[in-house]
Formats: sequence, structure tokens, C-alpha cells
Amino acid sequence: MAEKDYCDVCLAQGLDSHFLNGKKNVLRKNILYKVLVGKAATVKLCHVHDIELFHLGEKRFVTEHVEMLRKLVSRDGSS
Ligand SMILES: [Zn+2]
Repeated sequence: MAEKDYCDVCLAQGLDSHFLNGKKNVLRKNILYKVLVGKAATVKLCHVHDIELFHLGEKRFVTEHVEMLRKLVSRDGSS
């Protein structure tokens, strides 16, 4: 499975996205507006983490998933 087809949170945490999501194997693009200063960050989330984002809200979600945020920041910085 190519990295680009993977949920950003699962990838950062080494989770098995396919096991976690079973048949609901869809990725949804989400835009986070509050995490990076001055620009929006795009993340791909699997069904499970998409719901988690919805429930926790953006700020709590990124504090729960600092590893994902770190990857996001370094990725955006290098492009
Ligand atoms: Zn995930």
C-alpha cells in the first residue's frame, strides 16, 4: 500500500488502518485551519479518525495525535 493512500494518523502511529476500519476503507480529506499558523493543513483520515476529529474538534484532535502533527509540519515545510 502506497503511503499516499494511507490515513495520516494511522501512518504516524503505525496503526493498521485496514484492520482498524474493516470494510469502511475510505479516506477523507480534511482541512485543519487552526493547527498551522497562517495556513491550512490538509490531512487524509480514515473512517475511524475522521469520526474522532469530528467528536474531539480540531484542537483536541491534534493534541491527541502530536506525531501526526509533527509529520504534517515537516511535510509542509519541505514542499
Ligand atoms: Zn486512521
